[in-house]
Amino acid sequence: MLRYACLAVGILGLVVGTAHAWGPHPQITRAALEVLPNLEEVKEKLGESNLAALQEYCWLPDHRGRDLGSFYADDFLLIPDLPRHVGHVMPSVKVTFEPYFRHALLALRTETPTNACRQLGPLVHFVEDVGAPPHAKENCPHHGELENWVKAELISIKGYQPKLLGHTDEEALAGLLKRIERLVEFSKERAERALPLVSQPNPDRSQVEPIILESALETARVTADVLYTVFTLGLKPGPGPGSAHLTVLVSAPKLMENNDQEARVVLLGSPYSTLTQVQSTNTTDQWLGKAEFHNLPAGAYELAVYRPGALPGKASVTLADGEAKQIEIPLLPSDPPQNLVYNPDFTLRTLPIETPDRWTVTTNGPNKVWTSATMVIKPGTTYRCGAALKSSNATVTFIAQPAQKPGKTVAPVRVSINGAQTDQKHYEVELTADEDHSTLVVQISGTDDAPNLIEKVWVIPAR
Ligand SMILES: [Zn+2]
Repeated sequence: MLRYACLAVGILGLVVGTAHAWGPHPQITRAALEVLPNLEEVKEKLGESNLAALQEYCWLPDHRGRDLGSFYADDFLLIPDLPRHVGHVMPSVKVTFEPYFRHALLALRTETPTNACRQLGPLVHFVEDVGAPPHAKENCPHHGELENWVKAELISIKGYQPKLLGHTDEEALAGLLKRIERLVEFSKERAERALPLVSQPNPDRSQVEPIILESALETARVTADVLYTVFTLGLKPGPGPGSAHLTVLVSAPKLMENNDQEARVVLLGSPYSTLTQVQSTNTTDQWLGKAEFHNLPAGAYELAVYRPGALPGKASVTLADGEAKQIEIPLLPSDPPQNLVYNPDFTLRTLPIETPDRWTVTTNGPNKVWTSATMVIKPGTTYRCGAALKSSNATVTFIAQPAQKPGKTVAPVRVSINGAQTDQKHYEVELTADEDHSTLVVQISGTDDAPNLIEKVWVIPAR
């Protein structure tokens, strides 16, 4: 289990939560890639490193809400046809296949290879997840054993010939759903066979491992079919959804922290969105990035551009068939500048749901609790954590979350601003990060929605 976690730490620079995670995601992805009959062509079109990175991107749904370095996992998880996070086990996982399959094809046809490969992550993850015995069998006990008692180094399907699931998008989608149904049956049967063995007082792991391996191998075969199909259909030369090309040059204030974060460009009300690739960080105070869309349908588009530490940018553009257009969108500094909170004033809303981007809402008794996206914090840095309050009913809590270190249990550190105890409109507290805390979230609670309780919130590296 730890080995897979380490792989992700090395590449994404973070620790994977392995509770309830099908251990061998990367090994299954690698086994599937190895047998692709069109591997050389795919490598040439997408780039070898982008393709290899699928072994990390297949973890994306296990990182919901998190900053993974140059992007947030949610940049690829939350899409117009699936704007909320969903469960990873049967039956809830069933809703993921159609939207992520269609969006993976769309990304291959309209985005850069880097972004297209990232967008494959959720599809690959959920296909692999349903092949894990305790994900296939509903309400399955012994979840951890049944998905981790497997020798990942044995996962190889050399000699397997991946099948094309269909010659058109619709045919392939129907083929995918059927293939998934059979995989669920296959792995459910393995769960039922392994359960009596793992439920014994001193279970013999060596008896269970071969059963879980059968599921891992079948999952790799299905993953190979899915990848072969999306690459065949998605990289086929010929018309995409349209024939227009749009380049968006974004400039934004350089950030003291999180400056590797790319800007997100969304064509509002359409399925199209992407991330910039960084162009330059050499100038004194500006960060420059470039986003590209190809094969867009002709039409009029409203763009929203966002990067942490800047105010959201807007623009309109009209594209004709076959036209290639380039536009520039300068983003102004956030107020206060250098703010690490994603969408700190709730004005960014790019998905067809009521909740502003990257805030999640839960209830706690009579209160609503609004939680921000996770920010990475650096040990030794003091952060100015503040809020502009609208209501005395608001409580704003800044929570430094423990770094996940094996064998060490650390409590979160909480600092709160209580609207009832201050008559100042702008209120600020300080929080110094230590070695044991690596991320921070903001929670806003009260009996009303956050945009009615506060105007905005900020976390700024001070010294
Ligand atoms: Zn999962």
